[in-house]
Amino acid sequence: MDIDADDPHGNYNDGNRAFLQAFMNRGQLSFEEGRKILAAIFTVQSRAEVRPAEVTQEDFESYISAAADALSPFDYEIRSTQHQLTKEKIYAVVNSMSDPLTQSATIRTQEEIFYIKRLLDAMFETHNTRRREVMAITSIQAMEKKVLKGVNRPANDDSQSAVDKGLTGGEAEKLLEKLEAEKWLERSKQGFYRLSPRALMELRSWLVEAYNEPIQEGEDADEWQRIKFCEACKEIVTIGQRCAELDCNVRLHNICEAAYWNSRPNKQCPRCETEWDGQHYVGQKAVTTTEEYLKGKRRSGGVKRSRAADDEEVPVAESSNRRSRRASPEPEEEEEEEEEQEKEAEAEAEDDDE
Ligand SMILES: [Zn+2]
Ligand SMILES: [Zn+2]
Repeated sequence: MDIDADDPHGNYNDGNRAFLQAFMNRGQLSFEEGRKILAAIFTVQSRAEVRPAEVTQEDFESYISAAADALSPFDYEIRSTQHQLTKEKIYAVVNSMSDPLTQSATIRTQEEIFYIKRLLDAMFETHNTRRREVMAITSIQAMEKKVLKGVNRPANDDSQSAVDKGLTGGEAEKLLEKLEAEKWLERSKQGFYRLSPRALMELRSWLVEAYNEPIQEGEDADEWQRIKFCEACKEIVTIGQRCAELDCNVRLHNICEAAYWNSRPNKQCPRCETEWDGQHYVGQKAVTTTEEYLKGKRRSGGVKRSRAADDEEVPVAESSNRRSRRASPEPEEEEEEEEEQEKEAEAEAEDDDE
């Protein structure tokens, strides 16, 4: 996008343009990354070296705010959110008008767009069940035939069948790399793809619309939904903790839980009053802490088994009491949703082969 907005105040200069360009090229930006960009810009402007450490939060925020003003005539805005693992504040340029799959029509093929939709379905439907909310998929799962080509496509769905030939494994691999480079996807050390902060900001309302049941009047508003929000910060939770009660929608980010419980009289779910043990997970830990997964990894020798490796994505000190304890394999849930379990067991068997 070529941003050259009219500037009524005459303050928007080449430095601002360069900053916005660098911001948009990166897809999302933290303060630390912004400092590096601004240090380079200030160095050119002042003809003397400016180090990133000399760039202040105030400098950064003034450039963010000027960029937001420049973008506003184009239906773009700058949003920020905390990274669910690092707590770092992440900024992204977000289109405030159209849906993200439509927007990407100009830079991706039809097949790629359909693949992305199936990838999201795999993350938020197949691997996001009432029993196990992973909301992330391994690269092996992303290469499964049903994700590459789609299955059970309704015969009357002209919009897709006419053009959608699916992707080859190689094409999907390249696309996944691109999505990661553009900061739509993040890949964990354990090899799980999940949505980035940028994608979560951009897709926030789209995800709710696509994957949650609309709540009809008179219906139970507390019914289980696929997309759920943090009880503390109200952002989507794709990595965090869940209420142990399977039908309860209460979720918390790891980065939010300490402050949240400090403000509460007890450590019980605020909706269903179930004791909150902090050992029911949302995200890849919903898989990587299960006995099947650990056993599989040991058997295949794929990963040197250690609690530290599984837990390394939980950076907050408050959760340290969990580190020494193994999560229970949730026996109370075993009789439920057998079909789903079978599917998941299959998927995990494939994981083990990694
Ligand atoms: Zn939160
Ligand atoms: Zn609950």
